[in-house]
Amino acid sequence: MIPVELNDTTVFTFENLSRFPEITHFVSTRKGGVSEKNFSSLNTGFHVGDDNFRVSQNRRILADSLGIALDKFTFANQCHSANVALVDGAGKGRGAFDKTDAFPNTDGLMTSVSEICLGVQVADCVPILLYDPKNRVIAALHAGWKGTIRKIASEAVSKMLRHYGSRAENIYAGLGPSNGPCCYEVGEDVCREAVKAFGSVKDIVIPVREKGKYIFDQWKANFMLLTDAGIKPDHIEVSKICTQCRSEQFFSNRALEGVSGRFMAGIMLKKVRQH
Ligand SMILES: [Zn+2]
Repeated sequence: MIPVELNDTTVFTFENLSRFPEITHFVSTRKGGVSEKNFSSLNTGFHVGDDNFRVSQNRRILADSLGIALDKFTFANQCHSANVALVDGAGKGRGAFDKTDAFPNTDGLMTSVSEICLGVQVADCVPILLYDPKNRVIAALHAGWKGTIRKIASEAVSKMLRHYGSRAENIYAGLGPSNGPCCYEVGEDVCREAVKAFGSVKDIVIPVREKGKYIFDQWKANFMLLTDAGIKPDHIEVSKICTQCRSEQFFSNRALEGVSGRFMAGIMLKKVRQH
């Protein structure tokens, strides 16, 4: 990923998605906001116990720095599902100012409509951005261990194919900062669920020395889901930035011991120029 210094904050962009001038995308950081303590400072999540007024200010700071009007930001009330909602013009701006009108019960948003900035909010879970430049379709996904095991990445690709006529080989993907295989320890329960979902989990769930503990490689698992769905390996960029290792820069729920702000991954199709 490439760090981009903006007026009031820093964001990161994927190298593969940066090649497409017709989209804007970003992953936000903790820098430049007004929230305090575990939400310090650019917390974009309304649902984590921070002061709503501060969250709104943070979102405005991010929106202004990116030059995207805040009423174009569109969110879901994420619940670790594999549900992907299709967003049309009427869905633009849902969840931008208040979590009550965000898309309910959804962890993925997808659209072909310009000027809708699809956003997911994370702190250790994997943010995934998808783009099909041929059919002009974008998606933003939230995939923690549950969403990964429920295969939201596969669901999103198949929805792109079904609803927008995309071809998997045209799709590009970016897997953003999240808890990496260096740190993401899970218990027997997650291991069992992973075996159920994937059959063989070698390389994905790796036992560690301590009995009953495993490393869950959610980067590799999602990479596998995307390539199994037909996306070319060289169209997928894995940021390999671990939030727990770099918790001073990205919110990490684990590093902050369960009370944490959220950073945001967003993607938007720019307005089509009329000639
Ligand atoms: Zn780590």
